[in-house]
Amino acid sequence: MAKAKGGSKKDRKGKKPHKNKKTSKKYSHYENGKTNKKHCPRCGPGTFLADNKNRIYCGKCHYTEFTEKKE
Ligand SMILES: [Zn+2]
Repeated sequence: MAKAKGGSKKDRKGKKPHKNKKTSKKYSHYENGKTNKKHCPRCGPGTFLADNKNRIYCGKCHYTEFTEKKE
């Protein structure tokens, strides 16, 4: 067994140091409890679809809907 690099012997294997993650921006889609954003028909309300150039995409279930804009 190789010598442990730094830390005390109490450090358990597999325990990773806690890192702060980015908070969900879901709340920012809401305004006064309402939202104009489209939500996923599969995942239901609360799961918003990502806007792309010509399609909307659900990152959760990979649902994709094409939105062709005809002007
Ligand atoms: Zn979905």
